Amino acid sequence: MKIIDSHIHIGKWSSVFLDYETSVKDAVKVMKESGVDSAVALPCDTFMNRELLDEIRKENNYKFHFACWINPDDNNLDGFIEKNIKDIKVFKIHPSFQKKRVTDIAYSKYLDIAESENIPVIVHCGRWQEIAGFTFPIETAKKRKNLNLILAHMGGDQPNLVTDCANAVKESGLKNLFLGTESVREFHFVNEAVKIAGAERVIFGSDYNLGLPKMYIPIIESLKISNEEKELIFSRNISRLLGIE
Ligand SMILES: [Zn+2]
Repeated sequence: MKIIDSHIHIGKWSSVFLDYETSVKDAVKVMKESGVDSAVALPCDTFMNRELLDEIRKENNYKFHFACWINPDDNNLDGFIEKNIKDIKVFKIHPSFQKKRVTDIAYSKYLDIAESENIPVIVHCGRWQEIAGFTFPIETAKKRKNLNLILAHMGGDQPNLVTDCANAVKESGLKNLFLGTESVREFHFVNEAVKIAGAERVIFGSDYNLGLPKMYIPIIESLKISNEEKELIFSRNISRLLGIE
């Protein structure tokens, strides 16, 4: 079965992860060993978009889909996006690191670009509910029907948040909301969330270089759903969003 890892990090983390750093070559090795066909590559929290895109362009042995980290405080960001828009396949917004909700005015021009250029946006969702709660990207999705939003960590990487988020996505009835499975290890609750929200709303990710694809692929394989539904989660949903179907 074709596997696309829709959420991997490459590069250098800040002191939050003790300056831990991995290279594009490291990622290629791990992705190939894990049977992952291609991967959406995000920088780390040092926001090195340019460096990562340059490295990916030089990589001929593996297909990465570049994700641009949207740090609204980065003075070089607008110029970078304008210059490289054709190679930017995904935007990544991290409310916790940025200490701004996705609904903050600082993000709106980037969401405008994402909407008009058909670029899906990964929004980190976490336990810091005031800033990184899943309700904010759902609010954004309601207002922007042409914007596809992937709620990372299935809405917050904690069983009650994962199931609450799946219920909220279902109740919204929105077709522009997706749940990314990266870093969620409680397989029972992944299964619950998939049953609630539907496989067409769920997208596989590993959160490499913090996790490994081989840690999370078995969770999708173990889901009590059909092979067709597993295909949606492993590759078809993200392929559609990336326009590579
Ligand atoms: Zn991540």
